[in-house]
Amino acid sequence: MIPAPFDYVRAGSVEEAVQLIGEHGDDAKFIAGGHSLLPLMKLRLAQPSVLVDIGRLRDLSYIRDGGDHVAIGALTRHMDVERSPVLAEHLPLLAHAASHVGDPQVRHRGTIGGSIAHSDPASDLPATALALGATYVAQGPRGTREIPAAQFHTGFLDSALAADEVLTEIRVPKMQGAGWSFQKFNRRAQDWAIVGVAAWRRNGDSGVALVNMGSVPVLATSVSSALAGGASVADAAEAAVAEADPQPDLNASVEYRVHLAKVLVRRALEESSRSS
Ligand SMILES: Cc1cc2nc3c(=O)[nH]c(=O)nc-3n(C[C@H](O)[C@H](O)[C@H](O)COP(=O)(O)OP(=O)(O)OC[C@H]3O[C@@H](n4cnc5c(N)ncnc54)[C@H](O)[C@@H]3O)c2cc1C
Repeated sequence: MIPAPFDYVRAGSVEEAVQLIGEHGDDAKFIAGGHSLLPLMKLRLAQPSVLVDIGRLRDLSYIRDGGDHVAIGALTRHMDVERSPVLAEHLPLLAHAASHVGDPQVRHRGTIGGSIAHSDPASDLPATALALGATYVAQGPRGTREIPAAQFHTGFLDSALAADEVLTEIRVPKMQGAGWSFQKFNRRAQDWAIVGVAAWRRNGDSGVALVNMGSVPVLATSVSSALAGGASVADAAEAAVAEADPQPDLNASVEYRVHLAKVLVRRALEESSRSS
């Protein structure tokens, strides 16, 4: 449980962070809250030779009303997402999902940008942002670009971010008047999800995404298509796993995950219908 030796540098700005990561090459990694990277380093599943600390870039910690969307700085802590009045008004699903991340210590240290950049399919916020149609803003040596959430997660713990790009902002379209639900099935309070579901419904539209049902967060487009085509909630929920590729682990077989996903999607759609 002791990490391999590494050097540590702290960046004072995004530009400096990009420059430092460029100077130190492929073995360098950004560290934000450290609540995903440090456990991997302690298990020696990650062995960066240099850590570039972006955790004190307070300029990247904000939640702003951007008109048709809410803009969230990548260094915003889970606890601030959970308690934000702006999100409570415009995106309660995201604030509520953040309240399910780990325990208070994790939520005080971990950042929304770290959670998304880490691209863990078992994490709560990447799937929630995917269901909500978020866009991610990345800054690197070649400038700034936007990446739709649906194109961001490219594999297990892998994303469309280049090694020298900092995720700076998460933009989430407002969901005024939408019904919503976040379902997380875990063995004990504060555990990771065995399966989770983030869902919203408004008029004929919907968004449904699954936690821990494949190597990446899964957008369950077949469920939304079924609902748009007039299917009942029960019938639409049967399509829950059409885009998923669940794997077995210590907690669940593939069959159990499939069963859970269908049950949780049905519950999520029922709750979304009641609250819309
Ligand atoms: C005990 C425990 C329980 C947890 N339970 C849950 C849970 O129930 N649900 C859940 O969703 N999560 C859970 N987590 C994970 C937690 O949410 C992490 O905070 C989060 O996944 C990573 O955020 P971080 O800021 O700590 O990232 P870090 O650990 O600092 O970084 C993670 C990865 O992202 C990269 N990175 C970080 N920020 C950026 C950025 N701005 N730009 C580019 N790359 C970046 C790093 O290089 C690294 O590869 C848990 C963690 C712990 C330790």
